[in-house]
Order: sequence, then structure tokens, then C-alpha cells
Amino acid sequence: MDFLQTVRGMRDLLPDEARVLRFIEKKARHIAELYGYEEVITPVIEHYELLAAKIGEENRKRMYVFEDLGGRKVALRPEFTASIARLVATKMASSPKPIRLFSIGSLYRYDEPQLGRYREFWQANYELIGSNKPEADAEVISLTVDFLNCVGVRNHTLKINHIGILRGILEREGVSEDGQNALMQRLDKKDLSGAMIIAEEHGVSKGGLETLKDLFSIRGNDREEVTRRIGETLKDYPEAKEALRNLDEIIDLVRDGGVDAKFYFEASFARGLEYYTGIIFEVYVPELDIAVGGGGRYDNLIGIFGGGDVPAVGVALGVDRLMLAMKRQGVDAPKEQRIKALIIPVNEENISNAFKISVMLRRYNIPAEVEVMRRGLSRALSDASRRNITHVIIVGSKEISEGKVVLKNMERGIQEAIKIEDLPNKIGS
Ligand code: AMP
Repeated sequence: MDFLQTVRGMRDLLPDEARVLRFIEKKARHIAELYGYEEVITPVIEHYELLAAKIGEENRKRMYVFEDLGGRKVALRPEFTASIARLVATKMASSPKPIRLFSIGSLYRYDEPQLGRYREFWQANYELIGSNKPEADAEVISLTVDFLNCVGVRNHTLKINHIGILRGILEREGVSEDGQNALMQRLDKKDLSGAMIIAEEHGVSKGGLETLKDLFSIRGNDREEVTRRIGETLKDYPEAKEALRNLDEIIDLVRDGGVDAKFYFEASFARGLEYYTGIIFEVYVPELDIAVGGGGRYDNLIGIFGGGDVPAVGVALGVDRLMLAMKRQGVDAPKEQRIKALIIPVNEENISNAFKISVMLRRYNIPAEVEVMRRGLSRALSDASRRNITHVIIVGSKEISEGKVVLKNMERGIQEAIKIEDLPNKIGS
């Protein structure tokens, strides 16, 4: 009975996992509020052409595409950015800038399932729209770092590069946009020699090939050294140099601002998504070899969708991978120690009284459950301690005849007979 298994790449989240996911979601919303990002909710299904426009060849192949009953070619969203760019281009084009937007939800990619890679996954996504200034990029980096700290993930590193460096070289060398994108796809796969072959095929000069080769070997934590070495390789490429200066400015802002970001610079780093024009980054933790988040600047996408010249920068944090990182680092979502009452009728005559008391307590906002398994008192009590019940209300005929019940405080281990109308005050205090 194969249909009783979840579909390959799809998962059920059981209560403990769902709790962690919702904890991350809560933190995501907190960060959105702290930075002034307003939530928007876009559809899971969009036109195929919209999603396919700039997503990159690899991701395009992995989209869930189908024809709806009206004959439209549609797809499940594999990312948020295309939907946000569409929304801004069509409905917010004349809104005052900047626009700060937050989204959270599930995305779909026909990836090969493995640890941390699923066909349905969640992202918290932030887009800062309307500014091409380095302080906008710095804000998105600061937000990313605050988010990670806020969920308790430690030792995170931001792998960072500026796609304008590469595009600056390739542009000067006359490589078409398609050629540039094909080369980036190879780099995204860490296939440096494949990238060099594409460069050669697209007519990059001998000097250009040398520059690329030198550039691809530059990586490391030492910012001054990396910047100096990249700078040296870019003598003949003014646009690429300008991009490096932009990267430098952004890093300066982040550093001087006291953001707790640890960078790893990698000049051969590219991302699969084709719309990036400026900085690009991915977030890593030592416990996972896949990125827990990624982002960058995309200044042309909104324009491609007819929204005019509107620059933007954004980041997406992978909720599922953050859950894994938390687990690996031994970080648990705090279980809220809230009051939880269990009402136990000691015999069948008191079932209705127990039910009535539960209705009354919930009106006072006190979480209340009735013992519905008709267990005996001692079994019901041991079940209550297993489930972290804070207050047990025992409903017996003798006490009921006096308008009372027995209230047992499970933490303190004390019990007393009290009037039913005094329960909310007593439990709430
Ligand atoms: P991307 O949109 O490719 O930049 O992805 C941003 C983040 O989404 C990644 O860093 C991951 O954390 C997460 N992500 C992407 N693809 C998957 C997947 N198949 N399963 C789980 N998380 C994913």
C-alpha cells in the first residue's frame, strides 16, 4: 500500500518538529518586525513563465510544472523572489521606496532527496526593494546574522562574493548573457574547469582566461588579503573593480556597525539563480555541508517584469535546514511552561461536571483538557505528570455536592478542596 507512505521528498512534521518549525517562524516574524519588513502572502501556484524567467537552468529543470484544468501552464513556486518581484512590479510600482517585504511559507523543488534537501521545504524570505546603496546590502546581512543568533544557531559563516566582479570581466570580454549564465551554473556546481571551458568557447581572450584562473583561486577569511589579491587580478577591468569596491563598502558597513558576521570570501562562488547582479552570499554552519540560507542583490528582476528600474536585495533562510542545524548544535525550541489543567471525573456521574468545568476554564483563557479515556484516578494522574500538566482538577461526587472540586498543584504536590468559582483565580495565580 504505497499510498500510505508520504510521496518521495515530502515529509510529515510530528508535534516536536512542528513545534521547532513554528518557533523559527515566530523568530522570523520577530526579526521582520525589528527591521520593519511587512508580511505579504503570495500564491503557491504561479505562471510557469514567471517562475522560470530567471531562476537558472538547474532550478528550472526541478520545477513542479503542470497544466491546470483551464489549460494554463503553471508551477509550484520554487522560491519567493520571482513572486515578490511580480507583486512589486504590478501592484506596488508607485509605492514610496524603500519597500521592505517579508514572506514565510513552503516551496517546491524536484531535488534529489537527502539530509536537508527535500521536495517541499520552508523559507523565511526578506526583500529590501528600491535602494542600490551599500547600506541596504549591509542591512540584509545584519538581519541574516540577527536571525541566526535569535534562533540560537551558533558558529555561522557567510560565504560571500560579488557577482559584478565576474560579470564585469565577462562583459568586457564580450561574453553574452547566456554565456555568462552558463558559466555561473558551472561555478555553482564547483566545476571550475567546466567554467574555464565555457569562457574559452565564448571567446574570452588569453589575458582574460588568465585573470579568471587567478581569480578562481582566491578564497579565505582574511579580508585584506583577499581584497588585495582580487584587486590585483582586475587591473584591466574597471567594472569588475567597481564591483569589488562595492563589496568592500558593504563589508566596512557591516564591520563598523558591530554586526557579528564571520565572512568567508570566495571569488569563484556563484549561485544557481540567474538574477543576481551584486553581492551574493550563503550561510553555513560547521555541522552541515549545505547552506542554511542564501541571498544577494538583484537590480534588474523587477524591471524585467515591467516594474521599471527598481533595485533590490534579499535573503532567504531555509527553515528546514535551520531545524537541522539547531538539532546538530543541541539547541531546542523552548517548550513554553504554561499553565495546563486536566480535569478528571472520578466516576461516570461526574463526566458532565468535568466537561462543564473545562468549558468554564477556557473562557478564562486557562488551557484545559478533560480526561476522555475514562482512566481510573491513579492512571490518569500518572498520565498527567508525563504530559507536564500543571494543575489537576478531580471531580468527585462528595465535593460536587458542596459546589467544590479537588485542585492538585502538580508542581508543588499539594491539593485542596476549593469552590468551583474560585478555580480560575487559584489556577491563574
Ligand atoms: P536558494 O533559493 O536556492 O537560494 O535557497 C535558499 C535556502 O533555501 C537554502 O540555503 C536552503 O536553506 C533552502 N533550500 C533550498 N533548497 C532546499 C531543499 N530542496 N530542501 C530544503 N531546503 C532548501
